[in-house]
Amino acid sequence: SDNKKRSLTSRIAIGMVAGIILGSILRYFFNDVQWVDEYLTNGLFHVVGQIFITSLKMLVVPLVFISLVVGTCSLSDPSKLGRLGGKSVGLYVVTTAIAITLAISAAVLVQPGSGIERAADTNFQPSEAPSLSQVFINMFPDNPINAMAEGNMLQIIVFSLLFGVSMALVGKPGERLRGFFEDINDVIMKLVVILMNLAPYGVFALMAKLFADIGLEMIGSLAKYFVLVLVVLFVHALVVYPILLKFLARLNARQFLRKMRDTQLFAFSTASSNATIPVTLETVTKRLGVNNSIGSFTVPLGATINMDGTAIMQGVATVFIAQVYGLDLTMSSYLMVILTATLASIGTAGVPGVGLIMLAMVLQQVGLPVEGIGLIIGVDRLLDMTRTAVNVTGDAMVSCIVARSENAFDENTFNDPDAGKDLE
Ligand code: ASP
Repeated sequence: SDNKKRSLTSRIAIGMVAGIILGSILRYFFNDVQWVDEYLTNGLFHVVGQIFITSLKMLVVPLVFISLVVGTCSLSDPSKLGRLGGKSVGLYVVTTAIAITLAISAAVLVQPGSGIERAADTNFQPSEAPSLSQVFINMFPDNPINAMAEGNMLQIIVFSLLFGVSMALVGKPGERLRGFFEDINDVIMKLVVILMNLAPYGVFALMAKLFADIGLEMIGSLAKYFVLVLVVLFVHALVVYPILLKFLARLNARQFLRKMRDTQLFAFSTASSNATIPVTLETVTKRLGVNNSIGSFTVPLGATINMDGTAIMQGVATVFIAQVYGLDLTMSSYLMVILTATLASIGTAGVPGVGLIMLAMVLQQVGLPVEGIGLIIGVDRLLDMTRTAVNVTGDAMVSCIVARSENAFDENTFNDPDAGKDLE
C-alpha cells in the first residue's frame, strides 16, 4: 500500500476522536433539535454503529470454531494440549489476581468513597451469576449447534478442540479436511481485514451516538472513584504487563503495546472482548508472531475467562461501596473478594457491562449491599470501555508468553514494525 496513506490505527483514532467531539457538540448545543436526535443520533449513527458491531460479532463464532480446528488438527502431539491449557488458564488466573490485588490496595490507600453521600434511590437488580461447579458442567455442550447459535464460547472451544484432535488422530480423512478448514480460515480472516478497514466509520458512529447520549457531568461526585479505576487500569497495562512480558518471555513491551493499539481501540469502542476476538486474533497471529495453533486457543479462551480490567473495577468498587456504606472490610474479606472476582470472571463472557453482574456476586460474597452498584452504574459505561481495552491486552500478552514457552512464536514477526501492515 502507498506510504502516504495513514496507518489504520491513526484512521481509527481519528474516527474515534471526531465521533467524541461531534457527539459532545450535539449533546451540549443541539440537545433540543429534534431532527438531530431523530435522524443523526438515533438514526444514521445508531444504524452505522450497530451494523459495525453486529458484523464483528457475526465473525466470532465461525472464526473461533474454524481457527481452533485448524490450530489443533495440526498438532503432532495432542497430549500437548493439556499442558497448553494448564499454562494458559494458570496465567490468566494469576494476572487477574494481581490486577485485583493492585486495585484493592490502591483503593484502600486513596479512599475514593470517603465523603460521599449515599443516594436514596439505588435500586439495582442484579441478575444471577453462575456457580463454579455449574461453570465446569456448562463447558461441555450437549448440542454443538446450540452452543454456536448461542455463542457460548467455552462450549465452542471444547467442541472445536475435540473435533480438531480427532481430525489429527483419524489420519487420511483428517488430512483431507484440513485443507478445507484452512481455506475457510483464510476467507474469514480476509473478512476480518475488510471489516477492520471499515472500522474508522463504525467507531466514529459509535462514539458520536454514545457521547450524544451520555454527559460527562454525571461523573461529578464519583470523580475520585472514576479516576482511580482509570489510573489502576493504566498502571496494570503499562507497568505490570511490560514487567511480565520481560520476565516471562523476554519480550520488548514497547513493541507489544504499539502493535496492540488497533485492538485496544476496537475493544474501547465496542466494550466487548468477545466482539473484538477477530481483531485480537488477527493482531496476535499476524503482527505479534504467535502461532495460530496457540493463538486460536488462547484468544477466545482469554476473551471469556480473562478480565484483568474488569477485576480492577471490581476491586476499587468493592472498597468504594464499603466506604460509602461505612462498613469495614477485614483482611479475610479482601481475600474473599480476590478469590470471588477471579473465579467469577471464568464463568462470565466478555460482553458490555457484564462486570457489574460479577460485582454483584463479589458484594454478596462479602456481605456488602448489592444495591451499592446503583452508586457507580452511571459512570460505568466509560470505565467498561477502558477496562475492555485492558482485558484484550491481557489476552494478547498471555498468548505471547504461552506461545514463546511452547516454541510457537516468531520473533522476526514480533520485531518487525511493519508485520501485518500489508493487510491494510
Ligand atoms: N465489557 C467487558 C469485556 O467485554 C466486561 C466487563 O467488564 O463488563 O471484557
